[in-house]
Amino acid sequence: MLDTTRVYSYSAVLMGSPILLKLFVSDEALASRVFRLIKHYEDLFTVNRAQSQVMDINHAAGQHPVRVSSPVYALIKCAKAASMLPNSAFNLAIGPLVKRWRIGFRGDSVPPGEDIAHLLTLTDPLQVVLNDADESVYLALPGMEIDLGAIAKGYIADRVRDYLRKEGVEQGLINLGGNVQTLGTPAGNWSIGLKKPFSQAGAMVGTLEIAHKSVVTSGVYERYFEQNGQIYHHILDPHTGYPLDNELDSVTIVSADSIDGDIWTTLMYGMGVEKACAALRARPDIEAIFVTKSKEVILSSSHHYRFTLLDNDYQLIG
Ligand code: ADP
Ligand code: MG
Ligand code: MG
Repeated sequence: MLDTTRVYSYSAVLMGSPILLKLFVSDEALASRVFRLIKHYEDLFTVNRAQSQVMDINHAAGQHPVRVSSPVYALIKCAKAASMLPNSAFNLAIGPLVKRWRIGFRGDSVPPGEDIAHLLTLTDPLQVVLNDADESVYLALPGMEIDLGAIAKGYIADRVRDYLRKEGVEQGLINLGGNVQTLGTPAGNWSIGLKKPFSQAGAMVGTLEIAHKSVVTSGVYERYFEQNGQIYHHILDPHTGYPLDNELDSVTIVSADSIDGDIWTTLMYGMGVEKACAALRARPDIEAIFVTKSKEVILSSSHHYRFTLLDNDYQLIG
């Protein structure tokens, strides 16, 4: 019988975030293999360095298709499908706008409107041409750039879960910073903190208890800058080229797969609370927790987790 009172935590900094792995067995070698696996995927997907398979595609925009490895092809195919949903706020071809805004990086400021208007012409997901026969990707216009920043962590969190399962791990948690994926039910359930927006590290609105689920949070407070009293955060509206403007400070998705959490958090930003809750009625496998600027915590439903409110500044609805 596994002792789930003694936790072994392993950490690393990867993908620009602190990464945490929790196990109930002491296994340094396994933790190293997990971190190597994450690094392997980061090296394939990143657009924050000069070279990666995704950068190879971007460098060849308007010139020629690029054959990529199967994980890269699969993730781009999934990201394109999410981008093609009706009125989708998700857009894998958002790269030129992300690069221009530089939100959360040195030198971020509001770009001139004509720059944004021009860059919007380079973000049509239909111009990301996929060829299943040779797993190649072609960006049809020069200057186009794929950005998998909103979906890569989810994909990787799921691959880590699969790897741990294959290695015989029954209880484990991986936290990629925003994406948590879990195996097993240690001492009942896993408890995951829901961050309090725009507060110091460790401050929580509440906790979620889950088992065998992923929890993904995307918050406007994660990366932003302020100019003339206005906050500009890092989730952009692909239809306007400006940060998505609505009542939300954060969205959290509880789902089996973390990649769904990633896609749906972004879709939800585009919909806002009311439309999002309506859309989720058709998807009982996906549940959302909205934290609004007016300090409400709204649960679309809570069949697969238990939420406990910890901060009395907030009002729980749902
Ligand atoms: P976090 O960085 O907090 O994990 P997300 O998972 O929502 O937040 O990812 C945000 C990142 O996704 C941005 O930094 C950018 O690289 C990319 N991005 C921004 N807007 C969009 C969008 N509308 N569709 C897809 N990707 C986006
Ligand atoms: Mg994310
Ligand atoms: Mg997201």
